[in-house]
Amino acid sequence: MSRFLNPRFDALEAYTPGEQPAVLNLIKLNTNESPFPPSPQVLAAVNAEETANLRLYPDPECTVLREKLAARYGVQKENLFVSNGSDDILNFAFLAFGGNQAVFPEISYGFYPVFAALHGISWRGIPLRKDFSINPEDYYGTGQFTVIANPNAPTGIALSVSEIEEILRRNPDQVVLIDEAYVDFGAESCVPLTEKYDNLLVVMTFSKSRSLAGARIGFAIGNQELIQDLNKIKYSTNPYSINRLSLVIGAAAMDSEEYYRDCCQEIVRVREKTKENLKELGFDVLPSQANFLFIRKEGMDGEVLYQNLKERGILVRHFSSAKIAQYNRVTVGTEAQMDKFIKAVREIAEGGKR
Ligand code: PMP
Repeated sequence: MSRFLNPRFDALEAYTPGEQPAVLNLIKLNTNESPFPPSPQVLAAVNAEETANLRLYPDPECTVLREKLAARYGVQKENLFVSNGSDDILNFAFLAFGGNQAVFPEISYGFYPVFAALHGISWRGIPLRKDFSINPEDYYGTGQFTVIANPNAPTGIALSVSEIEEILRRNPDQVVLIDEAYVDFGAESCVPLTEKYDNLLVVMTFSKSRSLAGARIGFAIGNQELIQDLNKIKYSTNPYSINRLSLVIGAAAMDSEEYYRDCCQEIVRVREKTKENLKELGFDVLPSQANFLFIRKEGMDGEVLYQNLKERGILVRHFSSAKIAQYNRVTVGTEAQMDKFIKAVREIAEGGKR
C-alpha cells in the first residue's frame, strides 16, 4: 500500500479471482467457464474489417446488442443495460441502489461483500438452511438492497420464480437484484417479472452459457428507470465500457442461440452423470442447477482433495471460509474431462487422504 491511498480503502479486502494458470494442459474446472468454444458465427465475426474498425470508439449505447437481447428476452431495448461483464454491472448496482445497507446470502458469490465494502455499504449475510438452500422468508421485508444469486453460487441450488416473486412483493421499496449468471443450466429466469415489479433488476452474463468469459459481456434487465440509473453511473465512469470487438461478438452470439442451447443441454447431461458417479464414490453432492457441482466427502479434507487433484493436473475451486472448507466447487467440463476427473477422485479416495 502506498502512503497515498485514500484511508477509506485501508481495510478493503479485494476479491480473489479463481486461478488463471498460464499452462493450458490443465483440466480447468475452477472458474465455471464453458468447456465449449464460442459459436462458429462468433468465430467468423472477428474478421479483418472489424479489427480495422478498432480505431473507432465503440457504440456506448450498445444498440445492436441491446436490440437482439430485447428480442430474445421479450422486453424493450429500454429495459436493457449492457456492460463489461456482470461484475461491472453488480458494481454499478451496489453503487446506485446499495444505500447504506445490503443483504445477501451468507454463502454466495464472494464479490458481493467486496462491492459493499468498496462503496461503504454495511451488509448482512443471511445464513442458509442446513441443506444449503435459501429460505425465501428470510428475505421478506429486508428494508435493504437485496442481492440473490439464482441459482446460488457456489451451491448451485435455485429458488423458483414464485418464491422470488414473493420476495419482490414483500420488498416494494428497495431494489432486489437477482443474479442469473447460471440460469441457463436448468433454473427458471425471473425476467418476465420485470414487467410487473419496478424493484427487480435481473443481471446476466455471456461468460458461462455463451462461452464468452474472455469477452467480458454482461447485461441487466429491469424497469426503464432502473436502467436509466445504471446508465447514469456508467456514463459517469466509462461510457465505452464494452469494447468494439465484444459488441460484435455479443451480437453474433445472439444469432447462435441454437448452438448455445445444445451446449447447455450437454453440460446438464454431463453434470447429472458426474453427480451420479460422485455419489457412487460416497460424495455428498448438492442438487445443482448450474454448470458446477458443490461436493464433499465425509472424512476427506476439502483442501487435501483440492491439492491432490491439482497435483494430477485438475484444477477445482476450494474456498477457505470455515462453513464450506470441506467442500470443493467443480465446474462441469466435457464428458471426457469429467471422466478423467472421476478417475482421479477415485484414485485419491482409494489411496486415502494424505
Ligand atoms: N455472478 C456470479 C454468481 C458469478 O459466479 C460470476 C462469475 N464469477 C459473476 C456474477 C461474474 O461474471 P462475469 O463478470 O464474468 O459476467
